Amino acid sequence: MIEIEHVTQRYGASVAVDDLSLEIAAGEFCVIIGTSGAGKSTVLRMINQLARQSSGAIRIDGEDVSRLPLAQLRRRIGYVIQSIGLFPHWTVARNVGAVPELLGWPKARTRARAAELLAALKLAPGAFLDRYPHELSIGQQQRVGIARALAADPDILLMDEPFGALDPITRQALQAEIAEIQRSNRKTVVFVTHDMDEALRLASRIAVMDQGQLVQAATPLELLSAPANDFVRDLVGRDDLGLKLLGLAAVERRMRPGEPAPGPPLAAGASLREALSRMVAEGCDRLAVVDAEGRPLGAIHLADLLRR
Ligand code: ADP
Ligand code: MG
Repeated sequence: MIEIEHVTQRYGASVAVDDLSLEIAAGEFCVIIGTSGAGKSTVLRMINQLARQSSGAIRIDGEDVSRLPLAQLRRRIGYVIQSIGLFPHWTVARNVGAVPELLGWPKARTRARAAELLAALKLAPGAFLDRYPHELSIGQQQRVGIARALAADPDILLMDEPFGALDPITRQALQAEIAEIQRSNRKTVVFVTHDMDEALRLASRIAVMDQGQLVQAATPLELLSAPANDFVRDLVGRDDLGLKLLGLAAVERRMRPGEPAPGPPLAAGASLREALSRMVAEGCDRLAVVDAEGRPLGAIHLADLLRR
């Protein structure tokens, strides 16, 4: 658990973060969203103590971060940034192994860990371990950046607009992968973005910041259905609210189990929004639903999308 208690960060006369209190439970996927200059990056940099707060306390599992030795912080907290920041003259293997090397792991174990993580992030270890960052696409470099952050198996992952520089396809693929990594490894993720669609897709809870202050911390559903003020309402977007709500729920939650349906199938994990889009595109009012192996599970009807 991360506890941020009355934390303020001042730079000269200006206040970057203003009396912020926020608790992030273990295993939570917390997305911090806000416009540029809101103080989002500063919050992450204070959690891992790249910046020391002017006042207030930050604790991880009850321990004050300002008292934790740096090596321990680096082991417990992975950090991914938009500009990626790989060392250009180091191979991918060495970049991924940076923290294990710092912690004094044996070389073979570090390399094996790097290979394991690259494979998990869909980069064939044999092809990538000994390459240099400039030989990789931006999307591949960001995969390496994520692997590096995960190397010492930290409980906490801080991600600062990690997918901001990626094209939409690569971005969606990496969003899905980080969601899967978070779920299956029970990581606590604090993820900064200014993209509400990205926040809605990933977050178990969304913290909205404006001018250094926390405006609202709520589940995606609460944020959409009960925005705290006009700032949040504008950020959420007044248009397409119904579509955004449909985007939050998976087809399997509303499908009719065991019912057969004609036509090309939809994955059970797809959102209701995708189901609607497919029905409109194909001019039909029902779709077959299948599991990850393509086995039929049931059917979803247009009417099922309207049920609350
Ligand atoms: P965000 O990530 O939400 O865009 P930041 O946390 O980077 O916002 O910055 C919040 C405010 O603090 C901005 O006005 C920024 O200029 C200021 N700031 C951040 N870091 C520093 C620093 N090291 N020195 C002075 N001002 C800073
Ligand atoms: Mg920032």
